[in-house]
Amino acid sequence: MSLVLHHQDLSKLITELSEKWPVYGPKKERNEHEVRLELLTSAKNLSLNNSSSIVPPKKFLFPAKEVLILFEKNKLKKPAQTELILLGLNRKDAEGLFCLDKLMTTPLLDDHYAEKREKVHLIVIDSLAPSNNLNCDLYLQRVDQEHYLVFPFGGFGGKIAKSKLFSHDGDVGTISTRHLPDNVIYHPRLDEIVENSRDHPVWDRLAETCFNCGICSYVCPLCYCYETEDNFEITSNIEKDCKGCRNRAWDSCMLPDFNKVTFHNFRPKMKDRIYNWYYHKFVRMPREYGFPGCNGCGRCITACPAKINYREVLKELIKDEQK
Ligand code: SF4
Ligand code: SF4
Repeated sequence: MSLVLHHQDLSKLITELSEKWPVYGPKKERNEHEVRLELLTSAKNLSLNNSSSIVPPKKFLFPAKEVLILFEKNKLKKPAQTELILLGLNRKDAEGLFCLDKLMTTPLLDDHYAEKREKVHLIVIDSLAPSNNLNCDLYLQRVDQEHYLVFPFGGFGGKIAKSKLFSHDGDVGTISTRHLPDNVIYHPRLDEIVENSRDHPVWDRLAETCFNCGICSYVCPLCYCYETEDNFEITSNIEKDCKGCRNRAWDSCMLPDFNKVTFHNFRPKMKDRIYNWYYHKFVRMPREYGFPGCNGCGRCITACPAKINYREVLKELIKDEQK
């Protein structure tokens, strides 16, 4: 007997959960193509058609700008974290968060991220079966227009699955939606090909087109570079009145100042910064973590003002290497 949720009860589930926690999810905006991760009160406008929000779910764990520590006199204080549910992420986005969890916790633990992560619970909705690369609490697999198969994970998922909205409804079956492997990102020799492409003309060409804007990093669910800044008030009695905060904000290795160390910029050329973006994602990360720094979500392609498509770049490198 499978645990099942009826599609008509999805709104009731959101209402039920909202009584205890804020529930966020992908919502359709004015036009069908614009999806944002917003507060939900019902399933109205919930986007479940696999289209991802342009700002990725990392914003709940590693926001564009955040306060890390507040300090006053000689006391340090951390801002309180809110417990929340992220509902309706597709499997790809959930796998992206799984990778980000690894990046932010190994080999060094980002304790600020880890504290937030404990408070963010995931409910994934997708037509594909759950994979092993998910840190989610509940997985709803859409098997037809009417039903979701329910897979709870861990204590929090088990607690949610006790709701009367879920039923042991007999055999609704599963659909066999095949997950096709991405033969570009997972090309077996991609790391070697990118590593050896340093003198390929594509990097000069991209350097002429790219705006240096960093948007491709900001929208990427797996980019995690940041800068920190201390802000404090200087008063005449600094010991008595000193107060301020340490902030962090997204940064991008595409930006000219990212590579500045005191008076020296160790990657002043755009061409080198672009190569480094690809090198980190497709050479270093597969070797260091066992997965590429890309889950194929396509956000950087949609958002790039210069219409640069990293897949076309990789395909060109693969093709030229075969010649
Ligand atoms: S497609 Fe682009 S935005 Fe998405 S994970 Fe890959 S590099 Fe990042
Ligand atoms: S989004 Fe496009 S234009 Fe902007 S830095 Fe990235 S590749 Fe260059």
